[in-house]
Amino acid sequence: MSALTKIQIDELQTQLRNRQAKLLEEIRDKLARSGDQHYIDLSGRVTDLGDESVADMLADLEAAQVDRQINEVRDIEAAQARIKTGEYGVCIDCSENIAFNRLQAYPSAKRCIRCQEQREKQYAGEGQHSL
Ligand SMILES: [Zn+2]
Repeated sequence: MSALTKIQIDELQTQLRNRQAKLLEEIRDKLARSGDQHYIDLSGRVTDLGDESVADMLADLEAAQVDRQINEVRDIEAAQARIKTGEYGVCIDCSENIAFNRLQAYPSAKRCIRCQEQREKQYAGEGQHSL
């Protein structure tokens, strides 16, 4: 279980929602400016998503060069799902609590800072040992 208080979770949830709304706006803008009628039609639906899962339409958007935003929206959705199940704020690797200030900076964080750094080291160091 997470060590976060209800107030802290509320604050982070607000941040997640705001960030999601902003990302959806960016996606919508990009689609609307794409000049492709199919994406322009889709852009009209992005506004109606609310808190519902956007997975279905996201699959359709892969080709629209909004990958970065889509990945982040997915991270945010995953974080909101973890809030519902009470797993939010707990590192998925080591099960330690993620520091509140880390979550404030990065509310969709799945890992504590230690595991994240380890993971980045692992990926950066793959195939080469240049110490
Ligand atoms: Zn960890």
